[in-house]
Parts: sequence; structure tokens; C-alpha cells
Amino acid sequence: MATRDRTIENLITRLCRLPGIGPKTGERLAFHLLRIDADEALQLARAIEEVRASVKSCSQCFQLDAQDPCSVCSDPARDRSMLLVVEDPREVARFEDVGFRGLYHVLNGRLSQLEGVRPEDLTTEALQARVRSGTFAEICLATNADLEGEGTARVLAERLQPLGVKVTRLARGLPAGSSIAQVSRSILADAIEGRRTLP
Ligand SMILES: [Zn+2]
Repeated sequence: MATRDRTIENLITRLCRLPGIGPKTGERLAFHLLRIDADEALQLARAIEEVRASVKSCSQCFQLDAQDPCSVCSDPARDRSMLLVVEDPREVARFEDVGFRGLYHVLNGRLSQLEGVRPEDLTTEALQARVRSGTFAEICLATNADLEGEGTARVLAERLQPLGVKVTRLARGLPAGSSIAQVSRSILADAIEGRRTLP
């Protein structure tokens, strides 16, 4: 079998490093990019370049935005007594969508014994520092309703409760094992509305 061009192999290798892309899909995408209009393909490259150059992690809440502090942290109309803790920056948009108007803290992951993710691998220290700074009356732990999300909420609650704030969790209305990225708007809105104080 003839060896494939080095540049094609390189593209396939890089595509395969993306989440959810196996060798077969990587190959299919690479050949798709070679088949379509050259300008169309290059626009994808430019979009990646542009987003990487302009979007950064907010130094306060760690969500992704073109400005730092982000548009939420720098908005004077937000309720600064309420902090919603999420696993992933993508989840911020979901809570914005259902009308949450407090501030956020993005953990950039969740604790996992299996994957060896420890509290110090997340933005836990920064979260504790923000809570210690004292403007928050309530911290709502909006991690996912699966095993690792629940475990993460438990560990965070243990660390935050001694700091003298009310620590709450999204209501149990979230189907067990579900992810915030997937539940409907109404379920998510109800989950915020019905949040419960952790003992
Ligand atoms: Zn921010």
C-alpha cells in the first residue's frame, strides 16, 4: 500500500486528538476538508485562529469571554450575593438562558478518582478565595447530577460551609445521571428555583 502524504496524515492525527473523534471519523473529516472549496476549509482554520486569539479565561470566574473580567463579572446589574458553581464554561450559557442573574464560578472539570482529578486540579482554591472575600450569601453547587458531579458537590460543600455561607444544590428535579448540557430549559429553571440547602 502506498504511503499517504505526510500532511494528510498530520491532519488526521490532529483531528483524532479532538474529543469523540476516532481514526475512521478523523480520516473522513480530513478527506472532507480536502474535497470542499479551499476557501471554506481555510475559513475553519481562521475561525480557530480568531477564537484562540480573542477568547480567554476570566480571571475571576474562569468562564470564556473576549474580555477580562468577563461580561458577567463586570456587569454592575448582577446579583453579587449569589454564586453558581458549574463544571464547564459551556454550562454558563445554559443558566444565562433560563434567567440566572447572579455570578458564576467555573471549576473547569470535576473531581474523579478514576481519572485522578483532585481538588487542586480544578479552580477550587480560587473559589474558596472568592467566598472568603465575603460578598456572597449563597453558593449554589450546580455540578451535574451524576456520580462524579455529586461527589464534587460533596467535597466543595465540606470546604465552603466552614466559611459561613449558605451552600445549596440544584433541586433533585434533574434526572439522576443527567448532564446540565442536556436537560430542557424548564427542568433547569425548576432546578434553580427549587434548590435545597445542604446539611
Ligand atoms: Zn467572569
